[in-house]
Amino acid sequence: MMQTRAAVLHEAGAPLVVETLSLEPPRPGEVLVRVAAAGVCHSDVRLADGDLGDGRWPIVLGHEGAGVVEAVGADVGDLTPGDRVAFCFVPPCRACRACVAGRFQLCETAATHAWAGTLLDGTMRLRLADGRAVRHFNFVSCFAEHCVVPAASAVPIPAQLPLWQAALLGCAVVTGFGAVRNAARVGIGESVCVIGCGGVGLQIVAAAHMAGAGRIIAVDRDPAKLALARGRGATDEVDSSRQDPLAGVLALAPGGVDHALEAVGLPGTIRLAWDVLRPGATAIVVGIAPRGTEVCLPAQELLSEKSLRGSYYGSANPAVEMARLAQLMADGRLQIGDAVSHLTDLDGIEEAFGRLRRGTGSRTIAVLDDALAQAPTRLRRSTT
Ligand SMILES: [Zn+2]
Ligand SMILES: [Zn+2]
Repeated sequence: MMQTRAAVLHEAGAPLVVETLSLEPPRPGEVLVRVAAAGVCHSDVRLADGDLGDGRWPIVLGHEGAGVVEAVGADVGDLTPGDRVAFCFVPPCRACRACVAGRFQLCETAATHAWAGTLLDGTMRLRLADGRAVRHFNFVSCFAEHCVVPAASAVPIPAQLPLWQAALLGCAVVTGFGAVRNAARVGIGESVCVIGCGGVGLQIVAAAHMAGAGRIIAVDRDPAKLALARGRGATDEVDSSRQDPLAGVLALAPGGVDHALEAVGLPGTIRLAWDVLRPGATAIVVGIAPRGTEVCLPAQELLSEKSLRGSYYGSANPAVEMARLAQLMADGRLQIGDAVSHLTDLDGIEEAFGRLRRGTGSRTIAVLDDALAQAPTRLRRSTT
């Protein structure tokens, strides 16, 4: 049993508390990882706010991150101590209906244990000082200096890829690129509207650019995020704090866009994704809506063969996609560092939650180990 510092959520709505927990060694099929850096994502906030269901506390949040393997349990063949890895929060079982059908991101076994807040054997490795068990968030729980995860949740990455950048791979990057490549299947020259330019939205913009999209229209209410979107390949911006976004998009794309991708998770923005479509086009919803949210659509427009679909975790085998994207990043063909607006540490994650609730800033990376993370000093410990 080892000790590790972690940011703990004790109940929905409470602020995170940084404290020392005990962590059991990895069991068969699991690995112990020293966390270098962790991304702070809106779904951490959704869970902290109680919007993803009850009863999973106390819990250590954090589901995108990167680090170095320190120990491996029995029956782990493909990882050894010293391997650099990025976390994948769906470790597919390869046996359920979804996995057999090749839809690994929808693995039913992984989903059951993720909702329960346990690892794949139904138990937990973390304990508070008073002995109470602490739940895991989607097998990862990387708002901590160390974590024990299923081996399938630790994806090897190239040695030359800095870990502070690799930290974004396992949620924002694979979700954004997969939504464009595997769900929308954006074609050369097609028009794309991206609604919400935070951590995932900026990756959608970059993926649309890489896919050869024609017009890429970024919509957000924060001019700073729109500027980042421009830097990642957006051709046009619509500032929804200053103008009606529907009119703004249709002025740029008369008759509607070929693809709309929503990365906010609110009824108004999902409806906007629908409204900007040309006949026959599909809106892809990536944003996670608060519990109980309903969306209202004009049913007659279904006659124009418009569609609305969700995309979860890249709509493919996330570990395979992550390894490919990591190689592109290592080769310098995919820049993602400029999507990071803030760096912080364990104590600053609560403040990063505040920025996400207010919709300011793009991605915050929490650095757990400066030497391993290799984050640039220009970003270090910025707090505004
Ligand atoms: Zn996420
Ligand atoms: Zn499965």
